[in-house]
Amino acid sequence: MWNISEAYIDGNFVPVQGTEVIQIINPTTEIVMGTARLANRDDVRAAIQAARRAQPAFARTRKAERIEMLGHLQAAVLASADQIRDSAIEEYGGVFTRAQWISQYSAQCFANAAQILEHYALTRPIGAATVRMEPVGVSALIAPWNSVAGTVCSKLASAIAAGCTCVIKPSELSPLQTRVLTEALHQAGLPDGVFNLLLGRGQDAGEELSRHPDIAKISFTGSTATGKRIARAGVESMKRVSLALTGKSASILLDDADLATAIPMAVNSAFMNNGQACVAGTRLLVPRALLEQVISAIQAHVATLRVGNPHDPDTSLGPLVNLAQYERVQQYIHCGIEQGARLVVGGPGRPSGLDRGYFVRPTVFADVSAEMDIARDEIFGPVLSIMAYDSDEHAIELANGTVYGLQAYVFSTSHERAHAMASRLEAGTVLINRVAPELLAPFGGVKQSGIGREFGVVGLESFLEAKTIVSA
Ligand code: NAD
Repeated sequence: MWNISEAYIDGNFVPVQGTEVIQIINPTTEIVMGTARLANRDDVRAAIQAARRAQPAFARTRKAERIEMLGHLQAAVLASADQIRDSAIEEYGGVFTRAQWISQYSAQCFANAAQILEHYALTRPIGAATVRMEPVGVSALIAPWNSVAGTVCSKLASAIAAGCTCVIKPSELSPLQTRVLTEALHQAGLPDGVFNLLLGRGQDAGEELSRHPDIAKISFTGSTATGKRIARAGVESMKRVSLALTGKSASILLDDADLATAIPMAVNSAFMNNGQACVAGTRLLVPRALLEQVISAIQAHVATLRVGNPHDPDTSLGPLVNLAQYERVQQYIHCGIEQGARLVVGGPGRPSGLDRGYFVRPTVFADVSAEMDIARDEIFGPVLSIMAYDSDEHAIELANGTVYGLQAYVFSTSHERAHAMASRLEAGTVLINRVAPELLAPFGGVKQSGIGREFGVVGLESFLEAKTIVSA
């Protein structure tokens, strides 16, 4: 049994002052794995003060020193990659293959940031001026539960590269992932206070971070609703904000797509991370003439997917994170049926043979129209909506007909057509004939999917501020 009751502040694991204790429930078995005590506002203030004390000296570190620190972080996370993977499987039911990838990627983030920093000009002459790219200051890194190590490490890597000390607050739904990751990061031996980590509720610990005048920047990943709250709270002290938010991504199948490769990728994009991915391609746009052929191919493909024990490397889908999310997804499935969509795969309830755990049947609806809730809302579960289109123009209109704009997928055998389509899609990233991201390129959303970009050079720059110095 886990008994997690410490925050990581000023280089030490210290007992939290908060008194709220929550249970950690394994979503696969519904068995209680332990408890976690949540940090309160006093804990957050202590963490901010530690980061603030460490900031001046850290801002003065040389590039080479920070590159060395990033190397230590990479090695520390890599050494704990198996434990990081297992904590994601146990805590939110992430399947083995994805959890394995995230744990490796979490270490790689630090190597990527080191490589970018190495080639980045922190000082440069512009006209008569010298422009210095300086750390923005103490940063709050706020993360959701659906990939704690990946989200925290990519933000932390950019912050460290830039010379910003941080207070990190992952979701209260992720005590186990947070504890395992913190122990790993501690092994890197960074100076005290450079990063501080605690677990607390959004409306308490999170809000304290969003309002506190000593926080210069917030890098947030989570829902659009929370992102708006954070931006509003932060504007009083003019915090810099990067917001990576909700998605409702479209996958567009062009009429020349190779269905044999495109259908598995489109389904994978919709159901990745058990459907709990911001970048999930949950609206599949299909040429009307190919609709029935595509539905048959999807039915055949989904029938091959194994739903069950997330520890098993052959499992495609594990459970949802908790009972509340299970019930929310069930409601959306009922709503799709009530609003007249055609159920072609799955449906309400648990998959047969699974009577415990928050498992949902992978579900596909056809004849979905743009007004239906399942076409508009991020469901955050394995529910795919197929929408038929009559022309490329119509496909673009449907794809862009959402308040979100995180990612889009295009499947086509024509390079020119796919790129022409990509150029007209309102999305931060467009993936053509692939589902895997490019981790050195900017990542983020347009419209209500966010503000700013993470990863790569742009990710580094989001923690830097330009100072112009001109002398006579
Ligand atoms: P959430 O918005 O409920 O919570 C995210 C984090 O914000 C948590 O740490 C939470 O404690 C904190 N929080 C909540 N209220 C707060 C407040 N008032 N002030 C400060 N912090 C607060 O999201 P979630 O349910 O944990 O995660 C799922 C959402 O995250 C989905 O909408 C998903 O699309 C989004 N997401 C986006 C990306 C991306 O890169 N765009 C990646 C992963 C998840």
